[in-house]
Amino acid sequence: MIGERSVTVFYDERVLEHRPDAESPFLPGRLDRRVREILSGLGVKWAYPEHPGRISAIRDRLDQDPIAGISFKEGAIATRDQLARVHTTAYLDQIERMRGKSAWLDTDTTAVSPGSVEAAEVAAGSSIAAVDEVCSGQAQSAFALVRPPGHHAEPVRARGFCLFNNVAVAATHAQAAHGLERVLIIDWDAHHGNGTQDIFWADPGVMFFDIHRAAPFYPGSGHLEQVGAGLGEGYTVNVPVPAGSGNLAYIKAFEEILVPAVDAFEPELILVSAGFDAHRLDLALNVSYEGFAALTGIVQRLSDRHCPGRLAFVLEGGYHLESLANGVHAVLEVLAGGVPPEPGIAGIEDVAAAAEFHRSAFEGNR
Ligand SMILES: [Zn+2]
Repeated sequence: MIGERSVTVFYDERVLEHRPDAESPFLPGRLDRRVREILSGLGVKWAYPEHPGRISAIRDRLDQDPIAGISFKEGAIATRDQLARVHTTAYLDQIERMRGKSAWLDTDTTAVSPGSVEAAEVAAGSSIAAVDEVCSGQAQSAFALVRPPGHHAEPVRARGFCLFNNVAVAATHAQAAHGLERVLIIDWDAHHGNGTQDIFWADPGVMFFDIHRAAPFYPGSGHLEQVGAGLGEGYTVNVPVPAGSGNLAYIKAFEEILVPAVDAFEPELILVSAGFDAHRLDLALNVSYEGFAALTGIVQRLSDRHCPGRLAFVLEGGYHLESLANGVHAVLEVLAGGVPPEPGIAGIEDVAAAAEFHRSAFEGNR
């Protein structure tokens, strides 16, 4: 029942101050063609797709339709030491020089405005706070509503709207501050989490499971054969799926690939890079709200089995405001104790049995 489980949502207005304006004369250069294509497909009025309205839309939805069991907390600033577990000092210096400025950071998509560096520090710090919240037992799960997102950010560079790799900073904090030896990161954003994969490529202490729209879709990585290396070989699990994939494919991937892998790994903490651009209104995948809720139910069962109460979500992408806000709402209802649906699954076994019945009938008539 909704309200049976405690959930802390980290919401901090400082993340709204990251607001690059791609049409501003103070931001020389221009938005990449691919990003302009995304924008035209979504019918949004913002000149930079990863804009503050994303977080406001989620907060408005939660205020209009509150969920029992949820409490809000402010986020926190990540320290340089916490960020340096994931990023090089040269990169952190480069970002520091951007404080108070407007500029493009990489050649494709990522820009900053005067408030962006602090927003990125709060995004990473709130992800850390979410880990502390569940590791200290203050809530059974947590959700960090943060931006800029993180999973494309690599140790040495910004990429794909991401400055700091929030979920990776959170995972390494769990290792360093809470002494955890096995952390699971599930990335269900429509795009592959190339940065997260890079950071934990050779680390057997972090299992990285990523289902995403297959290359050549951005960022182009995440092939099936990319499984990690060295001691980390086998701890990176990629499931690339074609455009149009929906609930059935996602749930099958979770039940048949994620669940057995996780049962063998036995994580002490589960983090979810939760993007909502796999929704059918967003970027050419076909997951529904019920689908996100069902995936949350599977993740919650894994957490209950291996690491009760240590489950934290970190927001990644999602550019269609309606599906983003409703998707987060659907996930939070399950985290708060709502019963997850089994979309598209009901009736499958009955149809299989009916098919078997008719097949033998046909064969009997021959
Ligand atoms: Zn994405």
